[in-house]
Amino acid sequence: MELMYKSTRNETQTVTASEAILKGLSDDGGLFVPVEFPKLQKPLSEIAKMSYQETAYEVMKEFLTDFTEEELKNCINRAYDAKFDTEEIAPLVKADGAYYLELFHGATIAFKDMALSILPHLLTTSAKKNHVENEIVILTATSGDTGKAALSGFADVEGTRIIVFYPKDGVSEVQKLQMVTQKGNNTSVVAIHGNFDDAQNGVKEIFGDKELEAELKEAGFQFSSANSINIGRLVPQIVYYVYAYAKLLQNEEIIDGEEINVVVPTGNFGNILAAYFAKQMGVPIHKLICASNDNKVLYDFFQTGTYDKNREFILTTSPSMDILISSNLERLIYLIAGADAAKNVEFMNDLKTNGVYKISEGMKEALGDFAAGYASEAQVNERIRGLYEETGYVIDTHTAVASYVYEQYKEETKDERKTVIASTASPYKFMKSVMCAIDESFKEKGELSMVEDLSKTAKVEVPIAVKEVLDAKILHTKECDADKMKATVKEILGVN
Ligand SMILES: *Cc1c(COP(=O)(O)O)cnc(C)c1O
Repeated sequence: MELMYKSTRNETQTVTASEAILKGLSDDGGLFVPVEFPKLQKPLSEIAKMSYQETAYEVMKEFLTDFTEEELKNCINRAYDAKFDTEEIAPLVKADGAYYLELFHGATIAFKDMALSILPHLLTTSAKKNHVENEIVILTATSGDTGKAALSGFADVEGTRIIVFYPKDGVSEVQKLQMVTQKGNNTSVVAIHGNFDDAQNGVKEIFGDKELEAELKEAGFQFSSANSINIGRLVPQIVYYVYAYAKLLQNEEIIDGEEINVVVPTGNFGNILAAYFAKQMGVPIHKLICASNDNKVLYDFFQTGTYDKNREFILTTSPSMDILISSNLERLIYLIAGADAAKNVEFMNDLKTNGVYKISEGMKEALGDFAAGYASEAQVNERIRGLYEETGYVIDTHTAVASYVYEQYKEETKDERKTVIASTASPYKFMKSVMCAIDESFKEKGELSMVEDLSKTAKVEVPIAVKEVLDAKILHTKECDADKMKATVKEILGVN
């Protein structure tokens, strides 16, 4: 049976998975959600014997029902190959009583690779299935990691162009270098004078611009999104939560049916929503623990039921979580409102006009699957150093937010369930912050000079992704004001 998707802002229309992937965002501005949650068809004890690729097929076939077996397996095998530096793709590392699910073994050493290495294949397959002849223009706003992962996934993929906007002063040195050195004839990278929310709002506006859409169509282009609002990003992310549970089972760390917790360092709410979807599919997850940095709009929301983005935007050492509008939360709001699009629209309108909305008590009760916490900058540093001193294991700043929040959660709740912490970036991606947390004397040093120091400290080989950018040529220097993004897109595409 075909699984259909509908918009969080419209009851009536449904689309297939491939249509939802092609569109990214629904015409009404809503996000696509499956009309119901599929269940895993095989027991987890059986999935425990599968490879990552086999697990991916087992999970994704339930969501992407209009893909043939051959199409989907082809996408999976092209994505999860030697681009990853380990056959396990997403290894589990046990440290200090928790299981770190390392999601950073792909081409750009952050978890965005998990979905963005397959999205280009899902998208071009969807285009073929739907007889799309236009060139697909991927437009992406990035807080640092999505940009490079999308560029790397789409570079020189036939029939596609990719344009990435990043906040000029809001990304790490390595993140920036990774983007501005990107090769590929179809790639463009633009620094905007603004923060991530400005970039994301600009992209959303461009997507909603009907006039521009018509102009582009005339010129043979159509937009799609590689942001985590695309269902083609969300679905591949469900896989590694199923895989993690299955591996714990296979390694006899848990027994079949035993509940675990999952902690996710959260920004746009995509990664943790994927864990929620995994739970809906039947993975025994007790709490989904949402970890925020100083931009703790989600923590406050889970505490109070009020989402309020009217606050100072704080630049932290975990920049990929410096976000005040968590786009994917809309999917959860819609679901806990009882799949009520009209109600969701009210909240989203409140958010747009006043920057704030308040959910009902009933909806708040439906959030019982979640717990939330946050870590300040000092706590992040303390956790990186503490874990290193205790175990020798070095984690990045984002993962440290989650790790700190988990320690706090354990202390408060005395919940001793086995816990998986999503480890979302390699420490090499945020070298300066990581090394300074371990040893303050690094404050005086340049970030790129620390590669060998980190390698010695962590006893981990320097990833190829880092070696590469150190001597790559800078190919992208374009900048623009946040209100000039549309004009910049037209200029890049040569549409006037
Ligand atoms: C994107 C990102 C996050 C946040 O993930 P969301 O899906 O946006 O919540 C956390 N850590 C790192 C390293 C990231 O790149």
